[in-house]
Amino acid sequence: MRSIRTVLTIILSAIFLVSLPLRGSAAESAPKDQDSVPAGAPAAEANGFDVPSGVRVVVFSPHPDDETLAAGGLIQRVLEKGGKVRVVFMTNGDGYLEGVRKESGEAKVLASDFVNYGIKRHEEALKAISHLGLKQKQAIFLGFPDQGLDHLWQYWTSLKPYTSPYTHLNHSRYRSSYMRLKYDGRDLETEIERILQDFKPDWVIIPDPRDLHPDHAATGVFVLDSLRRFDSDERISLQKISVFTYLVHYRDYPDAGMWKKWIAATGIGGSKIAVKELSGSQWLDFSMSTEELSKKQQALNSYPTQMEVLGGLLRQFIRPVEIFGRLTPIQIIEVPTAYEKQLGLFSGASESRPSSS
Ligand SMILES: [Zn+2]
Repeated sequence: MRSIRTVLTIILSAIFLVSLPLRGSAAESAPKDQDSVPAGAPAAEANGFDVPSGVRVVVFSPHPDDETLAAGGLIQRVLEKGGKVRVVFMTNGDGYLEGVRKESGEAKVLASDFVNYGIKRHEEALKAISHLGLKQKQAIFLGFPDQGLDHLWQYWTSLKPYTSPYTHLNHSRYRSSYMRLKYDGRDLETEIERILQDFKPDWVIIPDPRDLHPDHAATGVFVLDSLRRFDSDERISLQKISVFTYLVHYRDYPDAGMWKKWIAATGIGGSKIAVKELSGSQWLDFSMSTEELSKKQQALNSYPTQMEVLGGLLRQFIRPVEIFGRLTPIQIIEVPTAYEKQLGLFSGASESRPSSS
């Protein structure tokens, strides 16, 4: 089974690599089953939506900057309306070879250079979210491996965790993160579940599983899987939670006008996995005020390490509309299930993955 997973991962990785320079976007407005939209969903006006007062929102960000790119405007609006926000940084972005080379000025870089880069990106993130109105304590840094989240689907025990080829770490070691977390799927889902249980969000904002960056796609699926198991244990009701997805790396997103059509035929990470389950996403526009857009710009400018190497792409997200795809409870349950089945994880689930409880 391990070999099947490995082969599939290699195939998926190849698809990701061929799919182009990481960075993408969202999908097509497909017909939706309105009956299955959560009761707590925001009121939809045409293809836009309102932010209700006091809403609790958790934003999962694979790397420092994704929270601003995807939801910098939404975060401000939620706070303005008296709501609560948590931003969860899955990684410190410590596996970005091109960025580390640029930062160090050396072609040959060391593991310590990657760790220092992660520390710097953490500091940038704190500054960025302050422009959005968030305090340091409203951000959670998990410190999982950049460029390695998808690999965690193959590592489900802390006895044999994944090791980052960049930092050479197999556990979180940043002062700001939970030092004991091992790089394995169990530790990751345990943290996601703890955050969901403690914060009790009304809205969960995740990277779209179709995003072409493996860390983004994996983050989306890991969170959906946690929600699915919460629901099956009756610890949370998917009828009371709204789950929204966002794109960052998807072909020519957000500039291309065709992304909605393209993504309707795209599965997890650009693969064929879970195409059917995902194709019905409803895409909503969130419109920002001039002031909100200005603050978003300031937040993005707080990431000089990223602007330096990816500025052309990042600046494309400075536009007055943020786009979110709404998932139904059925999609939340079916996407990780389809993903696991495809990877062959179900047959050995009892020995490799956490139980439902
Ligand atoms: Zn990212």
